[in-house]
Amino acid sequence: MKVSQILANGRQSLSFEIFPPKKESAFESIKEATEKVASLNPDYMSVTYGAGGGRSRFTVDVAVNLMEKYGTTMVAHLTCVSSTKEQIDEQISRMKETGIENILALRGDIPADAPAREDWSFQHASELVRYIRSQGDFCVGGACYPEGHPESEHIMLDIANMKKKQDAGLDYFVTQMFFDNNVLYNYLFKMRESGITIPVIPGIMPFTKKSQLKSIRDLSGSFLPQRFIQMVDRFGDDPKSMKQAGIAYATDQIIDLYANAIDHVHVYTMNDYEVAGAILRNLSHIIGRD
Ligand code: FAD
Repeated sequence: MKVSQILANGRQSLSFEIFPPKKESAFESIKEATEKVASLNPDYMSVTYGAGGGRSRFTVDVAVNLMEKYGTTMVAHLTCVSSTKEQIDEQISRMKETGIENILALRGDIPADAPAREDWSFQHASELVRYIRSQGDFCVGGACYPEGHPESEHIMLDIANMKKKQDAGLDYFVTQMFFDNNVLYNYLFKMRESGITIPVIPGIMPFTKKSQLKSIRDLSGSFLPQRFIQMVDRFGDDPKSMKQAGIAYATDQIIDLYANAIDHVHVYTMNDYEVAGAILRNLSHIIGRD
């Protein structure tokens, strides 16, 4: 099934993101973890892809396993930064052969050892979106950034670049994580004012370990509201309490989104079955899963 069909079916959805193994030796343990997450029966799942090639080999393998074993609708991420057109063609062919209908098309973060930019086959995600569109009947998603992409000088310039992805044929956006829903609501207003009409799916990261703080700051530079900082100050050094508080915080964000008529939410599960399962149970009546 295509994600666009799920987004159009008139009911709330909850989807989960997982990551593939970096090395062959971790394949079995990651496979098991992702199967547990899939057994929760989310509306669909997406599998990330390493920009530098690290996790790239296994993205499709993980997606196909879950499609076959659980009948899960799967999205395979694909990044184009420093990839040749041949490498992208190879990934797209594998997706076609294995029946993957959904691709999240990304540029990817630029690795330190990336070749000179003029040698890249694709400069921006919008070019990849257009290319995928020309290669088959895929549903194509893309990333967007409620606090602006870190390389962008101004949020409105960033939104203008996001619009280029819509113009290239994107079906929907998934947002970078954020911890204050007002940031998302402001962003949605600016996007709609800028002519973006396709669905924008908020991406929620359950903050369950104090160690996540650094990567969150490095990755997204997210604004951390006082309520969030107090939660980490109070529970950060007690892993069980932090996990419980983080699940409650993420649940609260999702309920607020649904309450404000945002019907589709994507959760960065980090392959954690307990976290994904707890959030799903917290929302069971709301998303009609009881
Ligand atoms: P783009 O849309 O190309 O944007 C990147 C920057 O270029 C922005 O600053 C934008 O404003 C600017 N830009 C875009 N188009 C133009 C243009 N035509 N002219 C000038 N400037 C332009 N990374 C991974 O490696 N693997 C993953 O699986 C992965 N999954 C992700 C999933 C989500 C939901 C999100 C939000 C991010 C994900 N990322 C992933 C991270 C992402 O690859 C990085 O944030 C990357 O730096 C930008 O990718 P993009 O597709 O948004 O790029």
